[in-house]
Amino acid sequence: MKALCWMGKEKLEVQNVPDPKILNPHDAIIKITRTAICGSDLHLYDGYIPTMQPGDIIGHEFMGIVEEVGAEVKKVKRGDRVVVPFTIACGNCFFCQSTLFSLCDNSNPNAALAETMYGHSGSSLYGYSHIYGGYAGGQAQYARVPFADVGPLVINNDLPDDKLLFLTDIFPTGYMGAENADIKEGDTVAIWGAGPVGVFAAASAFMLGAKRVISIDRFPERLALAKAVGAETLDYSKHDVLESLRELTGGNGPDGAIDAVGLEAHGTGLGGIYDKTKQTLKLSFDRPTVLRQAIQAVRKGGTVSFPGVYGGLLDKIPFGAAFGKGIVMKMGQTHMQRYLQPLLERIEKGQLDPSFIISHRIGIEEIPEAFRIFRDKEYGCTKVVIDPWAEGGRTGGLVPKGELSVLKAA
Ligand code: NAD
Ligand code: ZN
Repeated sequence: MKALCWMGKEKLEVQNVPDPKILNPHDAIIKITRTAICGSDLHLYDGYIPTMQPGDIIGHEFMGIVEEVGAEVKKVKRGDRVVVPFTIACGNCFFCQSTLFSLCDNSNPNAALAETMYGHSGSSLYGYSHIYGGYAGGQAQYARVPFADVGPLVINNDLPDDKLLFLTDIFPTGYMGAENADIKEGDTVAIWGAGPVGVFAAASAFMLGAKRVISIDRFPERLALAKAVGAETLDYSKHDVLESLRELTGGNGPDGAIDAVGLEAHGTGLGGIYDKTKQTLKLSFDRPTVLRQAIQAVRKGGTVSFPGVYGGLLDKIPFGAAFGKGIVMKMGQTHMQRYLQPLLERIEKGQLDPSFIISHRIGIEEIPEAFRIFRDKEYGCTKVVIDPWAEGGRTGGLVPKGELSVLKAA
């Protein structure tokens, strides 16, 4: 099959690799009909996630048709159309039984690595380094899905893939990001980042009763998506974020603050330069600009939620402010399996059509170029979806027509 292989920092190659096989009686093999590039994949692309090895197949947002199942698989069968959540969970351990699926105790064969760094290991993730299990990912034509009775959600409607695909990660991640902000009816919520996660967090905040959502970013096409779901917008390159949030909330600060940016935040001023230097010198993996702002901005007794990913030891965190204001902080990888069914129902009822964030539709051969375009926010890129079976591996959907020469020059 064809698959996208990570070969090093900013080095991706589409390679012919062996088809995946059933290795465990609880496995299924999925023929992938749609997959996508996630903001989390950019951390791999940019070389910030340790324990990647050349040849690793990446990608964790995929859906498709069940091709084959292991002898013990009961709930899915050959021919089923399924959405696969990005967290791999056993369904039986204490954590899975408590619906904390991304903390599954049994799915990471390399748990010892994570234990050394973090004290304990979370669940494995598809295509996301060896510390997260070393499982092959889904920017490919097929994938092996372990614990096939626990992860995949069988789809019994005929909605197109593009409307369902984001159940694999970013819609549930935005939703849990909003849930973790403890939103009460009538609340005001500030959300940093109007990427896919931030936009779904904004839509979800309204579903959970927020009266106002203020989305912060600097790219007009991204702020436009946030606006489309009802958010007010704030361009951080033009306004002082802390001052503006105070003004917009009568001096109190927002009731909830959501960091949907994470470790690759774009920093401004001295703090920004400091973080970037430390990251370049490999003294730190994280640039916590947004995390600092969110703690400073949230009202006293408010909640800060972090769907944005952080990886290591963070510097210059205003912990005194967090303590002094008595705030609550919640974070973590999304407990995906908890959200699939309820969010599928919202899509089926027409409450949200998640496909509105897609800007680019491409074939498998175009993925390496698409990573750069998505990272650098070129051509208004907000979300890239991939048909791994597109003829010749290309759809020509990568750049607007007539701009191909610009791409070649870059
Ligand atoms: P993305 O890169 O498309 O979007 C990030 C957005 O943040 C961009 O629009 C960027 O302009 C904006 N931004 C950068 N610096 C900023 C700043 N200082 N202030 C305000 N906005 C700023 O990524 P995405 O797909 O939306 O993902 C966002 C984050 O969520 C990433 O860290 C990703 O790894 C994480 N994520 C977490 C989970 C989870 O399980 N917790 C799942 C998926 C993604
Ligand atoms: Zn993702």
